[in-house]
Parts: sequence; C-alpha cells; structure tokens
Amino acid sequence: MGKEKNSILLKGLGVSGGIVIAKAYLIERGKIEPAGYCHIDSRATENEIDRFTAALQESHDQISRIKTKLETDGHGKDHIAIIDSHLMIFQDQMLIDDTIKVIREEKINAEWALKKVLKTLTDIFDSMDDEYLKERSSDIEHSVNRILVNLMGSKHVNLADIEEPSVVVAHDLDPSDTAQMARSNVLAFLTDVGGRTSHTAIIARSLEIPAVVGLESVTHQVEPGDTVIIDGTTGTVIINPSDNVIAVYEKRKERFEEFGRTLFDYKDLPCETTDGEHVELLGNIEMVEELDSLLEHGAEGIGLYRSEFLYMNKSVLPTEEEHVEAYRKVAAKMSGKPVIIRTLDIGGDKPLKHLNMEEEANPAMGLRAIRLCFQWPDLFKTQLRGILRASAFGKVKVMFPMISGVQELRRSKAVFEEAKAELREEGIDFDEEMEVGIMIEIPSAAAIADLLAAESDFFSIGTNDLLQYTLAVDRVNEHVAYLYEPSHPAVLRIIRQVAEAANEAGISVGVCGEMAGEPIYALLFLGLGITHLSMGSSSILRVKKLIRSVSAADARDICDELFKLKTAPEIESYLTLRMKDLYDEEF
Ligand code: PEP
Ligand code: MG
Repeated sequence: MGKEKNSILLKGLGVSGGIVIAKAYLIERGKIEPAGYCHIDSRATENEIDRFTAALQESHDQISRIKTKLETDGHGKDHIAIIDSHLMIFQDQMLIDDTIKVIREEKINAEWALKKVLKTLTDIFDSMDDEYLKERSSDIEHSVNRILVNLMGSKHVNLADIEEPSVVVAHDLDPSDTAQMARSNVLAFLTDVGGRTSHTAIIARSLEIPAVVGLESVTHQVEPGDTVIIDGTTGTVIINPSDNVIAVYEKRKERFEEFGRTLFDYKDLPCETTDGEHVELLGNIEMVEELDSLLEHGAEGIGLYRSEFLYMNKSVLPTEEEHVEAYRKVAAKMSGKPVIIRTLDIGGDKPLKHLNMEEEANPAMGLRAIRLCFQWPDLFKTQLRGILRASAFGKVKVMFPMISGVQELRRSKAVFEEAKAELREEGIDFDEEMEVGIMIEIPSAAAIADLLAAESDFFSIGTNDLLQYTLAVDRVNEHVAYLYEPSHPAVLRIIRQVAEAANEAGISVGVCGEMAGEPIYALLFLGLGITHLSMGSSSILRVKKLIRSVSAADARDICDELFKLKTAPEIESYLTLRMKDLYDEEF
C-alpha cells in the first residue's frame, strides 16, 4: 500500500475524534472564480437575470432534496435547521434584488454581479464582533458558491453518491455536505481551512465523523486514491503511510472503537470508587458549542471555561454585555451544575494584538493572565462584573489563573469585591455566595498551598503550566518535549502537597490540565485525595471507567508505592502495570 510514494505527516486541528484509514476522495473545491467576468449589452440583461433566477431555483431544489432525504432517513434530523438557513439564503430578497440591480445597472454578467453582492454581504458579517455571526458569513459564501456552480453549469459533487468508503479531502465543505455524510461512504474528512466553531466542525462532532481541519494545503499534498490515515483526536494526518505505520494505526483504531462502544454503559453511573468515594468529573471548554458533547458524555459541570476565547480574533475587547451573554448561555445550559469560569489567561504565547503588548524575552514568565489583568484594571473589572451577573442564571464560580502568592490572591479578591459592591449599588442581581477559587500552576503557589487554601474556596491544579514551571520545560518547545514528564517525582510531590493542604483546609481540589483526562493518572489523583477532575468530553467516560474499577484504599496503596520510586519512567511502568490489573484497555 502506497510503497513507492513518500509518506507525508501533517498536523491540523482535530475537531472530531476517531481513527480512519482509507483512500482519499479529493474534491478540489477551492474558491470558485467565475470563468467569465464580462460586461454585457443592455439587451442581454434580462437573459442574465433569467440565468441567475434559474440557477437560484436549481440550488434551492438541490438543497430541498437533501433536506427531504435527511427527514426521511431520520438521520441528521438535528441539522435540518442549518439546511433551512441555507434555503432561506436562496430566498433572501436582498441577495436576489441586489444581484438583479447590479446586473441591470452595471451591465455585467450574473456571475460577476453575484460575486459583487457576496462581497458586500460577507463584509457586513465579517465586521461583526459576534464570532457566531462571523462564522455565518461562510454559510452565505457556501450558498452563493452553489449558485455559481449551477450558473456555470458544473455539477455539484454529491457526497452521498461516493461509492467507495473514503476520506473526503476538500478545500472547504459546506454544512449541507457534512450533513449528508451520515450513513454515507464518507468515513472522515480533511479540509485546508476551518475552525472549531464552523458549522462543518460542529456537525462532524455530532455525527461522530472523524475530522481534521485547518490543514492549509492538504488538497495539494494528496492525490486521489492515496491511502490516508487520520486521527481526529490528535489532528494527525499521514498520507501514504508505510505498511508498518498502517499496522500500528489499525491496532489503535480497533482498540479505540471497541473501547468507545463499551464506554457509554458508564454514562449514567456515578463516578465513584468500589468503596464509595465520589470524584466529580467536569469538562473543559473554550466555547458554548462544546457543551452538548460534554453533557452527552455525562459531565457533572464545567471545571474550566477558558474565557480567553472571547477576546481572541477580535479587534476590540468584549463588552460587559458580551461577557454576561456568553457565560449566561453556559450557566443556563448546565442547569444548576457548577460552571467554573477562569478569568482571562492571555499573554505569554497568546498575545492580544490590540492591547499593544510589548515583546518580552520570557513571555511564559512575563506579563500574562492575572498579572495582565492588574495592569488593565478596567478589562479585569468588566469581566468580573460579567461573571457576577451571569451567576444569577446558574451555579457560576470564578477562578483566577497564574496566582503566585497570597498578595495576588488578595488583590484579585479585592477587585472582585469592588465589582460586587458596584452591582449591589446598581441593584443588579448576582450570587452573593459565589465561590472564588484559584489555579495552582506555579510552584510558589504550590509551596504555600496551605496559606492560599485558607483564603480560597477551591483549588484547581493546572498541570500543563505546573509542569512547565516545575521542570523548566517550555510546554510548546518540541526540542525539550522529552523532558516534559507528568510523572516526574517532583511533580507528584507537588501535587500531593497541594492536595494535602486543600484536604486539611476542607476545600475542594481538582486537576484541570491535560493530565486529568488520562486514566492512568486518575489512579494517582484518587490516591492523593483529589476531589474533581476536569477534561475534554472524549476523556470523561474513560476516566470514569477507571475510577469505578478501583477502591480508594487500593489507590492510596498504589500511591504509597509510587512515592518510593525515583524516576518518571519507573513511575510510568509501575502505573501501567497496575492499570493492567484494573482496566482491560489502554485508553
Ligand atoms: C494548565 O495550565 O494546566 C491549564 C489548565 O491551563 P492552560 O492550559 O489554559 O494554560
Ligand atoms: Mg495554565
């Protein structure tokens, strides 16, 4: 298989998990440039208008047929609303009237006129601050592209008609294409463009079709019929893999699927050990769209809402109302389950351009997160007011990132109290009892965990940064990645110390870094008395299964043994061995 060709490894954004190995079905559907932009004689205008309305009708009919098929199949019913929004675009009076007007007044052909109107419409949407509405400009573009294809007489590829099981590779896919993938021969898809909030990614996740987007040039790297491996969890794509690599991924795929099937048995079971100790399993999110999947996997709440997403890809800072609206949606959807909103964690390797931040020699240790919020008090206060106001709609908690000492905690709480006082004065409702927690991700905070615990309602250990600062290993530098060892004894000792301090103070202590989603470390966390774990949706049932298979007493014994070991590899081997006794799979 693919022996003569060189293997190509690509990394994209894994937006829908799962492993697929199949032949590529290439749809070269980059931006559609009308072949003939031309001026027309005034006598030809009516003819152009007729061509335009016929193409419009044809597009409407095509999408209506897809809608009927989805309705009768009973599959993909959830996506009918999106199909309807495309149908509405074909009936949009502004699109129709403006195109006809441009044909008449500027005496240009239908393709050109339509392109001009499309540009005006997408400019309007792109200038909006709302990320969701911005994404909707791509719905208009997809619909107009369909009209253009019909105008030019080309045939729109119908994904439902693909005969061989394939990985679809496209520059971009529109949501109606994706909705057709249910029960089709499309096993997975790859696109050059795309982000997590595009409808295409949202549908892929809900249909559980593995997908990697944002690959930039995959349509130029793959040839039709090439063998492709895609891992939608990690965003890895291998074109023309060797037989050995295929064998490795085939095994992984088998295990992944088999294990996934059995996991849903655990969805409604409590997350508790065989001797009855409960561990709260929460989810990590960046945006509201991720909530459905978390709830489907039985998340008991949100343990980390990375609020910085609200600030990114924008030219202005979010207003207080935007904060309220975003958090209110999450709180309401979680209907009384806890939602921990982490205040802005930007800076370092995530600069915000419009804040005019200076370049720093050591950004990871520079002006980031809570430090930046103190530098920009209005920005901080606005967010805190938003979080407080959203607390009227659910069980919201606030969490401060990158706290390094007691002074910083007190300073954060003082601003929080100011925000509360203002709202009280203004007669605005909020939860007076809202819990205030901190992330423990800096070794200095861990060292004084007892002091911080006395003034916090909860801790959440951010292992991603905690490892970086404890081991002095840049978390984004691939050259030192071999030193980024979650089970380094120093890391384990620090986690133990933090857990003990929290347990003694009687406050809850969670883990929300990537370690929380790895079943192997759940053994450790259980043994150390961690009370909640927060992770991405696909990890929740895996971790729950492990926790339900062990007693807290055994986990404590395992921990005692672990702490006698001196190196990360020894600890990993010991944990792996003990896992095998408990857990029938690697995931
Ligand atoms: C962490 O540092 O572990 C964490 C959860 O926060 P982030 O990955 O957003 O820095
Ligand atoms: Mg962090």
